Amino acid sequence: MDSQEKRNIKALTHQELSEILKSWGVAGYRFDQIYQWIYQKDIADFSEITNISKDLRNRLQENFYLERWQPTLVQASEDGTRKFLFRLSDRESLESVLIPNGERQTLCVSSQVGCAMGCTFCLTGTLGLTRNLAHWEIVEQIQAVSRAVAPEASLTNVVFMGMGEPLHNFNHVVEALRFILHERGLNFSKNKVTVSTCGLVPQMLKFGELMDVKLAVSLTGARDEVRDKLIPVNQRYPLKDLMEACRNYPMKRRNRITFEYTLLKGINDSLQDAQDLLKLLHGSKVKVNLIPFNPYPGAPYQRSDDATMLAFQKYLLDRKVQTNIRHSRGRDILGACGQLKAAMESRPRAS
Ligand code: SF4
Repeated sequence: MDSQEKRNIKALTHQELSEILKSWGVAGYRFDQIYQWIYQKDIADFSEITNISKDLRNRLQENFYLERWQPTLVQASEDGTRKFLFRLSDRESLESVLIPNGERQTLCVSSQVGCAMGCTFCLTGTLGLTRNLAHWEIVEQIQAVSRAVAPEASLTNVVFMGMGEPLHNFNHVVEALRFILHERGLNFSKNKVTVSTCGLVPQMLKFGELMDVKLAVSLTGARDEVRDKLIPVNQRYPLKDLMEACRNYPMKRRNRITFEYTLLKGINDSLQDAQDLLKLLHGSKVKVNLIPFNPYPGAPYQRSDDATMLAFQKYLLDRKVQTNIRHSRGRDILGACGQLKAAMESRPRAS
C-alpha cells in the first residue's frame, strides 16, 4: 500500500484517532503514547516508536503516514524575524512568521489561505478567501518551524495573527488549539497562545466558552464611521456590540483583552481618535497595542509619523491605559500578515 492510499494521521481529530485505536482493541493509554511521539518527539516514521508492540507499529504503518512540511522559502529580516512560506498539496501557499524577542520566540500562524474579511489596511484582505486551513495544517506550521529552527531555538508563544480570521474558521481553529494545548500534544500553556479577531461577535462569545486562551481584538477605529471603512465586519457588528461582547467575554480574572490598533496617517491617529478610544474602553482593564502601519505596494494608507504615534500613546498612558507601540518587525521582508504570500503570488508560478 503506498502513501497515496494511506491517511495522514495528523488529519484525524482527537476523537477519530481514539475511536480507530479503540476499534483495534488498543488500550486507552496507548493513544497518549502515540500522540506524544507524533507531536512532542516529532517522529518521521512510525518505526521510531519504541514503547508499543511491533504489531501496533505495523498497523499504524499500513494505515497511516506522517505529513511533515518543509518550508518552500525562508526570508530572514535584519531584525531577526523569519518568514516561512509553505506550499500546500493543492498548490496553495501559506506563511508563518517567527518573531524572536529576547527569550521569547513567537510564531505567528495563519488560519486561512487569504481572508474574507476585506480589512482595507491589510494586504491579505485584498486577496479574498481561497480556503480554510484544516486543523492539522495550522498545527503543522508550528511543528515545521520548530523543526527548522531546532536546536538553536524553540518556540515559546503562538499567536493567530497571520493570514485569515481565526474565528471565521472556527471548528478547525478550536481543534488545532486542542492539539497545541494538550499535554501530550504540543503542550503550550494557555497563557502563551493568543487568538486575534477583527470582531466576529457571535463567534467570540462561543469561542470564549470553549477555549481559555488569550484574546486580541483588532480595533483600529474608535468610531463606527471610521471602523466601518477599515474593518467592514464592523457594519455587521458595530462597536457597541463588539465592546459588549468584550465586556462579557469569559476569561480568568487576571487576564485582559488586548486591543490592537493600527495607526494610519490622518485616518485614525489624531488626539480626538485617542480620546474616542479612551471613551470606548471606558475604564475596562485592557491593554492597547498600537501598531505602526507597514506600507505595501499600492497600499491606500500611510504610516503615521513617530511624533503622532508617541502623542497618541502618551494620551492613553497619562490616563492609565496600558499602551505599547508594537514596533513593526521584519519591515525589510514585508512584515505584515499575508505580505510574503502576496509577493510570491505576484511572481509567475514555476508550473
Ligand atoms: S486584518 Fe486579519 S481579518 Fe482583516 S483582512 Fe487581514 S487577515 Fe483578514
